[in-house]
Amino acid sequence: MLEVPDALEIVRSRVASLRPVTTELLATALGRVVAEPVASDIDSPPYAKSIMDGYAVRSADIASHSTLTVIEEVPAGRMPTKSVGPGQASRVMTGAPIPDGADAVIPHEETEASGDTVRIRGPVAAGKFILPRGREMRAGEVVVPAGTALTPAAFGLLASVGRTEVRAFPAPRLAIISTGDELVEPPTRPGPGQIRNSNGPMLVALAARAGAESRYLGIARDDKARLAQLVRDGLDHSDVLVLSGGVSAGKFDFVPDVLRELGVESHFHKVRMKPGKPLLFGTRGATLVFGLPGNPVSSFVGFELYIRPALRKMGGHAIFGPTFVPVPLAADLTTENDRPTYAPARLKWTPDGVHVDPAGWFGSADLRGLLTADALIQLPAGAVSQSAGSAIPTLPLNQ
Ligand code: AMP
Ligand code: MG
Repeated sequence: MLEVPDALEIVRSRVASLRPVTTELLATALGRVVAEPVASDIDSPPYAKSIMDGYAVRSADIASHSTLTVIEEVPAGRMPTKSVGPGQASRVMTGAPIPDGADAVIPHEETEASGDTVRIRGPVAAGKFILPRGREMRAGEVVVPAGTALTPAAFGLLASVGRTEVRAFPAPRLAIISTGDELVEPPTRPGPGQIRNSNGPMLVALAARAGAESRYLGIARDDKARLAQLVRDGLDHSDVLVLSGGVSAGKFDFVPDVLRELGVESHFHKVRMKPGKPLLFGTRGATLVFGLPGNPVSSFVGFELYIRPALRKMGGHAIFGPTFVPVPLAADLTTENDRPTYAPARLKWTPDGVHVDPAGWFGSADLRGLLTADALIQLPAGAVSQSAGSAIPTLPLNQ
């Protein structure tokens, strides 16, 4: 049976980044990836400026004149009109341009003003408390390279070079279908033999967290015609189609058949992992199709392992994961699994570092065990004892 790393490689090899689009720099663009190098249109700062409230002085002067004549006051946003000569100083506010002649700023706290003179307490080095022109960036210099994620800092930097829009990779469009005769939507109280469709809303939320735009298409009863109708809609209007349930070998598991009939080429259908061994990955043209097992935790793990990285690669992220990092166990851990297992876990942040603990979890139907989890840990197949402090491969979630 296919191992997880090989399955991940198959998915990776089938995913390309989407075509960049002009994107307004609104909150909805947060987390998208810039697809063009963005250069500054200005020198910044545009003039040498003071980074303190104080007095602009000639540093060479200070030894001979401990009392200077204040010739001007320069607020931020105003240009100086006088140059500072020997024995003179100009009062400058934070952000104010440095007057000609001056080469240092003495902070207000180190001076005593009286009338139009100021007493300076000590010497000052040339350049002190002055941000030289162009120190942050020069006109024409690329300040936001292609591939940069649109973080709050990127929004600020793009604003400072005058941009209100940028070429960026779009959010992938994802369609979600829940399958199963037993499902009712959340407002309905389940009748005999029925359960609520928890995967639909969970997958919508997972998609949003992964930076995708999702469309929930509804429940497909275990009926081929209805399933085919929803699948067709998903395939025709999405970058990724996700189905939950109906992928294993049960009598009413129609998903693989319907996908085949609608032209989806299947690349794998089973992976050696727990939870969620039956997991289908296929493509039709550039559209990816994932069939996740119906158990909620299996769906969740399948999404985080395979779909989230695919969405991130489509969205132009150079690092798309899943990135497992070694994290020390908080306590001894003995496990016995017939397959490599991805178990819900909790990260414990302390002043001494981060540790990880498995979340109490009884199996693939246990959404409550997942509620407080903020990581998945990878447990090997077989009977294994790992002691507290030993590092375990951990995939942080919630980010
Ligand atoms: P399946 O993969 O269709 O064989 O379903 C496996 C298990 O997951 C069954 O117990 C289903 O009732 C349950 N299940 C399937 N779909 C959902 C869903 N959308 N929400 C919650 N549980 C589901
Ligand atoms: Mg089913």
